[in-house]
Amino acid sequence: MRTFDYMRVTTVDDALQRAVVNGARYYAGGTNLLDLMKTGVEAPTALVDITGLALDAVTTTPAGGVMIGSGVTNTAAANHPLVRTRYPVLSQAILSGATTQIRNMATVGGNLMQRTRCPYFMDPAFDRCNKRTPGSGCAARDGFNREHAILGASPDCVAVHPSDMAVALAALDAIVHVTGPTGSRTIPMAEFFTLPGTQPQRDNTVGAAELITGVEVPPSPYGAHSWYLKVRDRHSYAFAMVSVAACLEVRDGVIGSAAVAVGAVAARPWRVDAADAELVGRPPRRDAFRAAAAALIQGAVPLSQNGFKVTLARNSVVRALTVAAARS
Ligand code: SF4
Repeated sequence: MRTFDYMRVTTVDDALQRAVVNGARYYAGGTNLLDLMKTGVEAPTALVDITGLALDAVTTTPAGGVMIGSGVTNTAAANHPLVRTRYPVLSQAILSGATTQIRNMATVGGNLMQRTRCPYFMDPAFDRCNKRTPGSGCAARDGFNREHAILGASPDCVAVHPSDMAVALAALDAIVHVTGPTGSRTIPMAEFFTLPGTQPQRDNTVGAAELITGVEVPPSPYGAHSWYLKVRDRHSYAFAMVSVAACLEVRDGVIGSAAVAVGAVAARPWRVDAADAELVGRPPRRDAFRAAAAALIQGAVPLSQNGFKVTLARNSVVRALTVAAARS
């Protein structure tokens, strides 16, 4: 590991001033960043420790939603009464990720900023990875790509984003609050993650010195009629092969509104307006769920080893919607 400066800050202003140093990174739970530093994938010049900032609260908003501070741990977010009662799909998604020990350390802001687990990115022994070393190529394209993207990929990168939390936040139309040297702004979840295109080194639209301060979840009509389904190779401590956050508002036997997001199929949680539209106005039945699944997966381009993901994603959407509809 290379040497780096370490500084602990107690105010957001101090954090922003320290982070303008070229190569500085914010440090909170460290559950992903420290692993990557140990292998040399990440080599920050300085770590700005933000664990002392007052960003660890879950509060209601004037609009009737909930603001989750970026420093709230995954455990605290998942178990908070406001999250559990108003957004059960978010609580389920968080609790499906990692292990209890990691969730106790990891934070909401860090979860969104975590990097892909593509093995060629994680291990510098592999030379070809455009995300780690722009212009070096993509070893996954003709290598091990069973877990990789079937949607939104590019010739330069076929990695998926590993977060479960982000999939539920995408379905709930959450808004990420960030602050930086030039002021504060909000980023809708739909605009938070970037597809690889020709710049796979970039994962999201957060600026270099910007700090995530919180994630706002708007009032949700879905409540109990929601479900997070995670399909993976083993039952715990594994990233998703496919995941689905399914949310339905059912009134008088008809779907009034719907939101479905699919995880582990692209570099961002995958949402398609046409899929939600396929559900609205129809009884919550299998034909509607199948139509939504088809709209979500339309245009999928599997790689050499992950053709099964197309069928898996389609069936998982139908399954998640079926469970969400049956819940009360
Ligand atoms: Fe690197 Fe992306 Fe290719 Fe993986 S898929 S090797 S992260 S460029």
